[in-house]
Amino acid sequence: MARPGLYTLAGNQQRAQREGRAMGRHENYPESTTLRTQDVGPIADYVIYIYNIANMPHLVEQPPYFPKFRIPACPPGKKFAFTTIPAYINESINRAGTFEYFTQKADGRKYATCLLNPIALPTDKWEGQLTKWSAADGVVDQEGNNLNELGCFWSLTPPDDIEKLQEEINIFTDILVRKCESLILDAEGLYANEKTRSLIGPLHHFAMDYRNKQAIWHTPAFHMVMCPNCGEPVREGIPFHRNSMGEKCIIDLEKYKAHMLRQRAIEKELETGVEGVTIEKVETGSFSRPLNAEEVGDSPAPKTRKRKTA
Ligand SMILES: [Zn+2]
Repeated sequence: MARPGLYTLAGNQQRAQREGRAMGRHENYPESTTLRTQDVGPIADYVIYIYNIANMPHLVEQPPYFPKFRIPACPPGKKFAFTTIPAYINESINRAGTFEYFTQKADGRKYATCLLNPIALPTDKWEGQLTKWSAADGVVDQEGNNLNELGCFWSLTPPDDIEKLQEEINIFTDILVRKCESLILDAEGLYANEKTRSLIGPLHHFAMDYRNKQAIWHTPAFHMVMCPNCGEPVREGIPFHRNSMGEKCIIDLEKYKAHMLRQRAIEKELETGVEGVTIEKVETGSFSRPLNAEEVGDSPAPKTRKRKTA
């Protein structure tokens, strides 16, 4: 006998609310990913966010629960990207001496800690990410895979709680800066000896890009995109460029306007000789015509003489 359709909402709608919130956040941060949680077991009113503040994606392989876990890179100009893992992980456990398996809920935070730093002990404390773990504590052979040092961290702070999140970001930015500086020192040491130069790897280059540094062994990597007007390769985020025909090609009108207004304001300032203009500005700035000494206000003496004779 056919049963009547009973398409109603579950009595407990917490999960629907939570997923709704997660979807909303996802809309606001399209570069990020979220994971659907299962519909069984204890209901957590939170998910665990895995944040990345650096422009480097990671693929963590920790089977069986995380055979391929992708952490998205933070795009240029953004503060972070994130992905999520559920508050609880279903651990599959073998009953000793049998072929029986049962599942057990484990705190996802413990997994998050080890996901980002394989040598950490599985702790549910956020501060565990700041601990200096050594290989003696956890999995051997995994030292150097500490993503906590490379701008990744887990948190229960959602992306819309900007104030609290910013504090956490600051902590991991400091760690990332220190790590990059030490990687750069490392690379310089490697470069000094011809035999070790080939050991300079992607992490060293990442550190140089993050610190905005240049060296003989590193040329900065600019993200090139196609100009939407003329199709020529241009650096991402620039308001305009000159194309191969020598014409000015405007990509971002708003930014271009702001740039031109600022440039005109400075030129006007120089012409009228109103304060705030130093010679340094003239030397380093890129103005269309060279300014003479009078406009710069460099030589007041001949000026006064001129005025007297006039
Ligand atoms: Zn163009």
